[in-house]
Amino acid sequence: MSRSEELFTEAQRYIPGGVNSPVRAFRSVGSTPVFAVRGSGACIWDADGKRYTDYIGSWGPLILGHAFPAVTEAICDAAKNGASFGLPTEREVRMARLITELVKGVEMVRMVSSGTEAVLSAVRAARGFTGRELVVKFSGCYHGHSDSMLVKAGSGLATAGLPDSAGVPAAAAAGTVTCAYNDTEGIKQIFAAHKDGIAAVIVEPVGANMGVVLPAPGFLEELRRITAEAGALLIFDEVITGFRVSLNCASGYFGVTPDMWTFGKIIGGGLPVGAYGGRRDVMSVVAPLGPVYQAGTLSGNPVATAAGLATLETLKNDSGIYRGLAEKGEKLRSGLASVFKKHGIEAVVQGLESLATVFFTASPVSSYDDAKKSDTARYARFWKSMAKRGILLAPSQFEALFLSAAHSLSDIEYFIAAADEAAHAGEI
Ligand SMILES: *Cc1c(COP(=O)(O)O)cnc(C)c1O
Repeated sequence: MSRSEELFTEAQRYIPGGVNSPVRAFRSVGSTPVFAVRGSGACIWDADGKRYTDYIGSWGPLILGHAFPAVTEAICDAAKNGASFGLPTEREVRMARLITELVKGVEMVRMVSSGTEAVLSAVRAARGFTGRELVVKFSGCYHGHSDSMLVKAGSGLATAGLPDSAGVPAAAAAGTVTCAYNDTEGIKQIFAAHKDGIAAVIVEPVGANMGVVLPAPGFLEELRRITAEAGALLIFDEVITGFRVSLNCASGYFGVTPDMWTFGKIIGGGLPVGAYGGRRDVMSVVAPLGPVYQAGTLSGNPVATAAGLATLETLKNDSGIYRGLAEKGEKLRSGLASVFKKHGIEAVVQGLESLATVFFTASPVSSYDDAKKSDTARYARFWKSMAKRGILLAPSQFEALFLSAAHSLSDIEYFIAAADEAAHAGEI
């Protein structure tokens, strides 16, 4: 038994499923978890001393790679002066100012401790601001695990959502209406049915939690137009896309300005951080300025804020990072696509900038229904054949693959060559 397997056996005695977040159980690829010990740059080492080039990147935060020196130093320096005060600190002001400078349309920001918390707080603020209760989300988009976001579609387009997890009250789910991603006609029908009842539409401006699914041309623009016309707010959940697809986030990248944003992942530099922000009038409903209550003992935590600031400042000061990420992403996507084509394997490689997903399906994926047509058994074989060759991918078909500034062009070349070798050997 490997050390990872031993640890997993013990973990299952004390932790539900042996893990602190379900995807880490590696069940959908029929494997057991890789227990991580150490990370540096693009690499991690597991509990058995095996080295992997890591394309999980902590699921998004590590755009600079593991243990990036400026981030590690910022964490240590901050920790030496006290891990938490429960009082405001200067770094929080710098963080909020930096976000408002980098993201056009964000005028005020509130820090929280996770993406889940950012979304549930933003949704509450949107409801408080508009005085309306319904929220529209898209199937296949993930917005954290709060009750009103763990919702699946009801029987018809315009009907109330149903709980997508045991323990979610039907009443909580009923406040959420679900639409297919990229379905502009569906959104129009939902607005026609609910006219003045919709507080907000929340969307991942690039779907990255069903595998990477791009917004169809005009989709985000239509959401902007329809929400504005109906007096509803548009919320971009940029927990993954924020500071990843560009320094100005997906809103800057696509030139569509929502009313509210949620952030997480990269802005914490690997520590637990989230934030929500937006228009000044909207954010002014948040306590103590306004009537929407939201608080957090560790919000704006000094160590976490230091890690996030060091990450954002590095990204801001080195314009070459995004260029490099785009180049590596393009090379990886086109390289993998040609490998699969050469071997007659049905696959679509999607993504943009530093995000990618290999969908084992015949046609382009523009919604969760399309994504679900993928051959997940084949993905599991692909995953195993890559793990064997020291390449660690997300253990699920419906996740993104994350590149960091630490990945080199030769890492990408190795990945493509490994896929070619595995396909040639009939392992995929
Ligand atoms: C990861 C994620 C979240 C939830 O963030 P947590 O920090 O895991 O709570 C919310 N929205 C999106 C788009 C995410 O990718």
